[in-house]
Amino acid sequence: MAPIKITSLRKAFNAVEVVHGVDITVEDGEFCVFVGPSGCGKSTILRMVAGLEGVTSGEIRLGDRLINDLPPKDRDIAMVFQNYALYPHLTVEDNIGFPLRMRGVDREVIRAEVRRVSEIIGLQDLLARHPRQLSGGQRQRVAMGRAIVRNPQAFLFDEPLSNLDAQLRVQMRTQIRELHQRIRTTTIYVTHDQVEAMTMADRIVVLKDGHVEQSGPPLEIYDRPANAFVARFIGSPS
Ligand code: ADP
Ligand code: MG
Repeated sequence: MAPIKITSLRKAFNAVEVVHGVDITVEDGEFCVFVGPSGCGKSTILRMVAGLEGVTSGEIRLGDRLINDLPPKDRDIAMVFQNYALYPHLTVEDNIGFPLRMRGVDREVIRAEVRRVSEIIGLQDLLARHPRQLSGGQRQRVAMGRAIVRNPQAFLFDEPLSNLDAQLRVQMRTQIRELHQRIRTTTIYVTHDQVEAMTMADRIVVLKDGHVEQSGPPLEIYDRPANAFVARFIGSPS
């Protein structure tokens, strides 16, 4: 595991800058939530950390390594998307083990690793099922299993719960937090939902229009919002 250090990060699409020099440090093992209105640049920043989007300028470090220019597969970071794509023709076991199979890992090692991971995420009894035989929450957990099995130095989540109904969303918040307590991998979790941010984060980074408005522990942001935007967005009493 390792801290993620983002320095003076900028991103322009077709000469229009959408991320304006962002500085964020996510400590080793921390669960950090990026929150802000739609279009403020959350996904763009996350995609730059994952390597799915190039950096216009600035630095992204994972531990001591400068990773800006590394291809995604060499970054040691796993991303869980909102539209998690499971392979419909593969069992839960094979879906979770897929990243290891791609690396050419030995079959028996894959079996053991998938068992270990499925216990962490509570899917050990469902390994023989296919995705269509799972609930939305179970599918989401398979997607997480596939990220965990890679043993990454960091996890990135981009609004992973937005396709789930309200009740399941609340359950999954708790499950993702419990998962983090167990494996303590450095995590960035993106959401536009203030309640999700407040309940899940060790630290919140509030973004607006491509820059950081405030960063700190949830209670500090709630009690001492830096400005009217943060107060309104987080719902602090005025
Ligand atoms: P969020 O995830 O916070 O909703 P995004 O990071 O998706 O915001 O988008 C930030 C801004 O960048 C938006 O104005 C969006 O329209 C723009 N943007 C994102 N991706 C692209 C792209 N591939 N090409 C052009 N503009 C983009
Ligand atoms: Mg987004």
